[in-house]
Amino acid sequence: MDEARVATTPSVDLSLRWKALIAMTLALVLVNASLALISNFQLTSQFELQQSAVRDQQARQLRALVEEGTQAMSKLASLVPLLGVSESAMTDADAAIEEALLTNGAMLDLEWDIRSVHWIRPDGSTAIGWPEGAQDIPDALHTELRRTPEQAIATLLCSPECRQYKATPLLWEGSFAGNLVLGRSLADALLAFNALTGAEVAITWRDDARSAELLNPRSSDYLQFPAVTYPDNTLPVLRAAAPTLKSGDTMQEPLLIPQGAGWYEIFRIPALAAGIDALVVNDVTTQREAIRTATSGSILLGILGLILSASLLLLIIKGPLYRLRDLATVIPLLAENRYADLRRQLPGRSKSLMLRDEIDLMTDTVRSLTDRMELLQSDREQAEARLVWLADHDPLTQLCNRRRFNDDFERILDQAIRFGHQGALLFLDLDQFKDVNDLSGHRVGDTLLQRVAAQLRTVTQSSDLLARLGGDEFALVLPEATEDDAIASAESVQEAVCSISLQEHGRRHRVTASIGIVMFPTQGTDIGQLMASADLAMYQAKEKGRGRWYLFSEDDQGKEQLDARVLWREQISQALTQGRFELHVQPIIEIATGRIRHMEVLLRMRDARGGMVYPDRFIPVAERTGQIQAIDRWVIDNALAAMELRADLNLSINLSASAMDDPLLLTDLRHLLARHRIAPERISFEVTETAAINSLLNATRLMRGMQELGCRFALDDFGSGYASYAYLRKLPVDEVKIDGAFVRDIAKNPEDRIFVKAITDMAHGMGKRVIAEFVENAEILGILKGLGVDDAQGYYFSKPVKLEQPGKPIAFDGVL
Ligand code: C2E
Ligand code: CA
Ligand code: CA
Repeated sequence: MDEARVATTPSVDLSLRWKALIAMTLALVLVNASLALISNFQLTSQFELQQSAVRDQQARQLRALVEEGTQAMSKLASLVPLLGVSESAMTDADAAIEEALLTNGAMLDLEWDIRSVHWIRPDGSTAIGWPEGAQDIPDALHTELRRTPEQAIATLLCSPECRQYKATPLLWEGSFAGNLVLGRSLADALLAFNALTGAEVAITWRDDARSAELLNPRSSDYLQFPAVTYPDNTLPVLRAAAPTLKSGDTMQEPLLIPQGAGWYEIFRIPALAAGIDALVVNDVTTQREAIRTATSGSILLGILGLILSASLLLLIIKGPLYRLRDLATVIPLLAENRYADLRRQLPGRSKSLMLRDEIDLMTDTVRSLTDRMELLQSDREQAEARLVWLADHDPLTQLCNRRRFNDDFERILDQAIRFGHQGALLFLDLDQFKDVNDLSGHRVGDTLLQRVAAQLRTVTQSSDLLARLGGDEFALVLPEATEDDAIASAESVQEAVCSISLQEHGRRHRVTASIGIVMFPTQGTDIGQLMASADLAMYQAKEKGRGRWYLFSEDDQGKEQLDARVLWREQISQALTQGRFELHVQPIIEIATGRIRHMEVLLRMRDARGGMVYPDRFIPVAERTGQIQAIDRWVIDNALAAMELRADLNLSINLSASAMDDPLLLTDLRHLLARHRIAPERISFEVTETAAINSLLNATRLMRGMQELGCRFALDDFGSGYASYAYLRKLPVDEVKIDGAFVRDIAKNPEDRIFVKAITDMAHGMGKRVIAEFVENAEILGILKGLGVDDAQGYYFSKPVKLEQPGKPIAFDGVL
């Protein structure tokens, strides 16, 4: 069983689980990446904003520091000539300044950071330079002093060292005596700036000839700035920024330079003085690091969230998916009709009604589908069992039918021959049964047959073989019996049958049986031969009067038995030659439209005195004598002739069992069709189920041949013989004619309804039309219509009526 489960386990290419997971992962990755990006962007711009504020402030501070230096110098300038100067020196400005510098110069340097003092005479010449050996003031300043001698000048010059100069004009005793120029190193301001802000700073000087040198990597002055705070730290950073700095005199935007493990921001403070800018280097490693940490933190958080939600998703859908898969695994069991297995293996329901989901819904649907299919299956099995049972039983009396009888008798006969014991065959025919049928109707006839069967059962033993061969004929085989046993048995049968008394419609029916007895294997070793002998013996019994038995004797054969046979053979051949056969027809109506589809040809014989003889009487004899072939030909020939004369006449023609084995029939039919110029689709043929199955191969061949010609084919009396749909499938028939026995009582008998419905559905399933015969009233017709039967035939519409000469309308005998 597990093997079967494994074998049918459906596989999937990509589980829903993975699909959901992939989709969710993609979505989350997208969201997280955007979030990380946005947060990074925000932090960066916040950082930019802060930095821009810092830069503004630093620029202001640096300018203020430089300015502060200038102001300090201008305050000092007027003080210098007075510093500790003696009376004697007060006479002359040059002397006063000289003495002041001599005595207090050191203090100027220490207290005020003054690096140089120059006294420039009004004619522009340098009178005093302090400290000793100090360089003269730059030429640019000289030029400026000469141009505007009596004005204070503040300037910043880098040649080569960066200095702030302040030139202040001094009056001595009321007249302009010269310019006192104080010089202060810019480095002090820069260091103060560094101490204040923590930022490094470098000065660039736009001396056009030199600046090219400063920024040329091949030059020895490459990136030698006139003033730099902590060059060891600052220069490498500036060097890293060199490519940008080169084009960078106009650099407006700050630069971000990675250097070593740190990040540095470089920005320019322009125009500290004419031609002099400052480059400020801020270490932003910590801020950058903070942004990086925050961003990677958010990414990490995203990944963590992703893992968490993925596991949560897997956890949530795992259960439902397993249930779905279980469901998919068990559903194929439906196709194998394994309902109990399926029900057991169905996934369980959710405990609470509130928690029911779609899978529970589906499970319930599968469960109710299973219940319904099981019900249908059991209905079908019942119908099938019934069909199987019908294959070898007579539904009316529940006795074995002819087919089963033949099989079992064959076996008994074999045994008798092999073991050398003797048995008896009793062939039994009810006397005047036809009268019962005709006087009181079929129903009474049926009841009578059932009573006879019941009585027969009481007088037979379980080892005996009892069967109804058809109509009012029964057979009883005693596997081991002497002649005396057989006779005793026949007598007790007759007694039992005699005891039946049937009161119906105010009439009392009594029945008697005529019995022919034949012993085997002494009087025959072949079933056909034994049956024929028993049949003859039975006729002999009938000749003696009702309710007799007759023991077959080989000696009789030449005399009376032969006479009886000869008598019938004579009658039939006379009827054939003297034209005493006539065709009757009975209409077959399409139920849906009420239109006559075609008519069945039914044969009648007139006896010498003009009395009507029905086919039940002469056809079995003709089958035994072999005259049936001639009869079949006569019917076909005359039916086609009638059709030629009546263009509106479509006929269905009965074929005997022997027609199946008649190799010439097909060719003859082809010639006849041509001769009478009949369109083949106007003809259909009927052959009984039993005849078709008894020679299955030939029957199939004949049917195919006729269909190739264009004729239709119907399986007659379906259900009375094998009624096996296995055969129905094999036989290429167009129509199925349900045996009248199932139709006649359908209004009262629900079993008949089930049977007719089963056959109809089955036949329709194979694309075949269904005809019901023995439709005797409107009620039956209504039921058949409800069951989906296509066509109906029966006394209700019309009894069989004589097929009149053309020109004369057919006078139907019924509602038609
Ligand atoms: P079948 O082919 O089953 O024909 C139907 C029989 O049922 C006919 O009996 C018909 O008269 C009878 N029948 C029709 N409607 C009803 C109804 O509503 N109630 C009742 N109780 N009976 C109805 P029929 O004409 O006596 O024929 C008996 C059988 O003889 C036929 O059975 C058929 O097997 C055979 N047969 C008749 N004509 C021919 C023929 O031309 N050639 C051959 N080979 N056999 C024939
Ligand atoms: Ca028929
Ligand atoms: Ca029939």
